[in-house]
Amino acid sequence: MTKVLAIDGPSGAGKGTVAREVARALNWTYVDTGAMYRAVAWKARHEAIQINDEDRVAAVADAAVFELDFDRVVINGYDVTRLIRTPDMDVAAATVARMPSVRRLLVARQRDYAAAGPVVMEGRDIGTVVFPDATVKLYLDATPEERASRRAKDPTHGFSRAGEIGVVASALAIRDRLDRTRQASPLTRADDAILIETTGVPARDVVARVLGIVRERLGDETPTDGRR
Ligand code: C5P
Repeated sequence: MTKVLAIDGPSGAGKGTVAREVARALNWTYVDTGAMYRAVAWKARHEAIQINDEDRVAAVADAAVFELDFDRVVINGYDVTRLIRTPDMDVAAATVARMPSVRRLLVARQRDYAAAGPVVMEGRDIGTVVFPDATVKLYLDATPEERASRRAKDPTHGFSRAGEIGVVASALAIRDRLDRTRQASPLTRADDAILIETTGVPARDVVARVLGIVRERLGDETPTDGRR
């Protein structure tokens, strides 16, 4: 298997920023699996499919053609980069992510990415289900307060006004509960994942620490200039 850096953890733990920066530094492919669940939810809505209709949502997942890169999410030719980061899509994505058939289809796609070359993949079940043999597994976490405050400040998430922090915190708590208590691949830390607590730690320090862990694990295999 090619090299995989699996990064799991709850919303707002800092996975996105860290995974992107680390992927750039290593020159590995970056895959945001949450964006895949979000894009399927968006496409289902776009086709006026009931978000609870598992068979029809799974058909959307099966027919999905993804184009993912560092800052763009495209599904079947629709650029949904911005459209999938709304409170409504937060809930819709968590709903479709509970469906075993949808997960099965998207996990297969996620494994395909690693067949093509080394990847940094972020999500909820990467170290537990998608790549149980990942080269390095990390679990990023932060206090609920810190995660809500990061989300509230993130303009890409549609919450830009200060004052909305209470709304963000309760939405985050609901989504956390959905992710942790579902039957299919609940959010949980793999036994062999390294726990990284990011509360109060600047993103660049987390990135430096993660790069240190990956390079140590790979020994001399990864040149420091980022060549594959
Ligand atoms: O990470 P993000 O918040 O964009 O993920 C959106 C939703 O997709 C999450 O609430 C979670 O339910 C789901 N998800 C998942 N498994 C993954 C990635 C995301 O269930 N590997």
